[in-house]
Amino acid sequence: MRKLRCARCPRLVALRRRLKRQYPDYHNAPVPAAGPRDAELLIVGLAPGLHGANRSGRPFEGDSSGDLLFAALNDAAARLRNDGLQPPRWRITNAVKCLPPENRPRAAEIANCRPHLVREIGELPAPGAILALGRVAHEAVLAAMKLNGSEYPFAHGARYDPAPGIGLFASYHCSRYNQNTGRIDKKALTAVIEAAMRYQP
Ligand code: SF4
Repeated sequence: MRKLRCARCPRLVALRRRLKRQYPDYHNAPVPAAGPRDAELLIVGLAPGLHGANRSGRPFEGDSSGDLLFAALNDAAARLRNDGLQPPRWRITNAVKCLPPENRPRAAEIANCRPHLVREIGELPAPGAILALGRVAHEAVLAAMKLNGSEYPFAHGARYDPAPGIGLFASYHCSRYNQNTGRIDKKALTAVIEAAMRYQP
């Protein structure tokens, strides 16, 4: 597994150190993007979950958020194949690469992590699509692309064309909380993923 070495956020580094003692078998480090660097679909979540990506070392792997995301990705890809289309390859990352307490990164931590996201967005080929999961990820993508938030407001199912050959899609985050409150389910997430997979400039 490729390591991402970074210690820009003192609060998150301290948490990583504490968790190394509590969960010595966990990854407990920045979680790098997973998937081909030149994948045509970049999915951006919020941050690693304690017992998901922070354990497995791969974004969204090992918790209920990831279970829903991967099920929806596979369903959307199957729909494209049913239409005789080749689904895009996908790469998954988070706006914040380290586990934040209570899943709430501070604004300074999101800003600290922006260079990593800028690099990942820069590796996206055109045509290519970005799917932001949740408002925080959406706004992090806008900041990474130096876009004005008022021109690209967050809404579930929103689709924008912020740069030549780049589509930006937004969905509610597939967190367990949003699943439990009925804000997101497999059908709703699959629909947005399918739209992103069918992106054409
Ligand atoms: S959250 Fe990002 S910027 Fe902060 S320490 Fe982790 S990898 Fe570095």
